[in-house]
Amino acid sequence: MNSTSRSGQVLINCFRGRKSLTRFEIQDLTGLSRVTVSQGVQGLLGTNILVEREREASNGGRRGSALELNPHGGFIGLISFTATSMTIAVANLQGEITCSQNALIEIGDGPESILPKAVAALKLLFKSTPKAKRLGIVIGVPGPVSHLLGKVVSPPIMKGWDGVDFYREVGDAFELPTFLENDANLMAFAEHRLVYPETSNVILVKIATGIGSGLILNGNLHRGSEGSAGDIGHVQLDSLSGTLCRCGHINCVESFAGGWALVERINKMGYSIKNSADIAELCRQGDSKILHLIAEASGYIGHVIADAVNLLNPSKVVIEGRIARGSDIVLATVKEVVYQRTGALATKNLEIISSKLGEDRTILGAAQLGLDLFFHSIPIV
Ligand SMILES: [Zn+2]
Repeated sequence: MNSTSRSGQVLINCFRGRKSLTRFEIQDLTGLSRVTVSQGVQGLLGTNILVEREREASNGGRRGSALELNPHGGFIGLISFTATSMTIAVANLQGEITCSQNALIEIGDGPESILPKAVAALKLLFKSTPKAKRLGIVIGVPGPVSHLLGKVVSPPIMKGWDGVDFYREVGDAFELPTFLENDANLMAFAEHRLVYPETSNVILVKIATGIGSGLILNGNLHRGSEGSAGDIGHVQLDSLSGTLCRCGHINCVESFAGGWALVERINKMGYSIKNSADIAELCRQGDSKILHLIAEASGYIGHVIADAVNLLNPSKVVIEGRIARGSDIVLATVKEVVYQRTGALATKNLEIISSKLGEDRTILGAAQLGLDLFFHSIPIV
């Protein structure tokens, strides 16, 4: 990368999380010289990555011109799968979702019936976008991802998806660079980029059908060597004494506290429920037997989060997921256990909080990741 493109990167990074900036504000933020900023901005205006608009001065003075990422400069296709739904969307260079579509699915029905529908839906949404402005595609899945291969590897809830080549099946259909990412990683990315951009170390814990986490370390998403980092749902606790997990091991925290395991357990108690949404509803109704069970499950989750806090020393742990949103008990119990099991330095500046993003957090994270890949010119595939 030459010095011109490096300063281009620095300039673009200024706009992540900021709507518009004047040249002077860019100089102030970057410490780059007036000439370098002016040349860099000119280059980015020329490639349609930035646009210039008039804006009112904040002190009510005369209007001046400000720059922003060009909302029409390029578009990223987004596909997000959960166990029970898929969202297809398109985002612009500002990370805004310009159009989206949701559908109910059963991920276990397999790729033959689901992937063609996702591709067809994205083709429809991309229809009004000129081909030259389609920059790439990011796909989120609820399973362990090998980024290198573009495949999920032994995914416990994605039955039949093992070995599916997403880069060929989706990327080739659009002739676009495509990137596959685990959904908890995308959620962590969204929290970091959109809510806590100044926080270097953030852990997002997803408590849903499965339990997983996304790790932001030193401001970057930490995937590990093969992409399995953050898979805390399968940390084993001896206190679970012999509970069989769907991954094939025993005593995983998910085998007690994952949504799928709780559904089984609750139905054995005489209820008839289907999923995490039903558990959240029972919590909202204040069912004391269910709340007691959720408190116990949250204790186990708190146990593994405490281990992660001891190991990684984050300053934010964001708790997310249907069950967590259904009852304050989850957050309260996790906090209590983490503070019991961690040292004073690890918790000195630690905040354990609920996610502030809405239902579209995964797709927003996919948009942010797509922008990163595009702006940083990473060879995506
Ligand atoms: Zn397991």
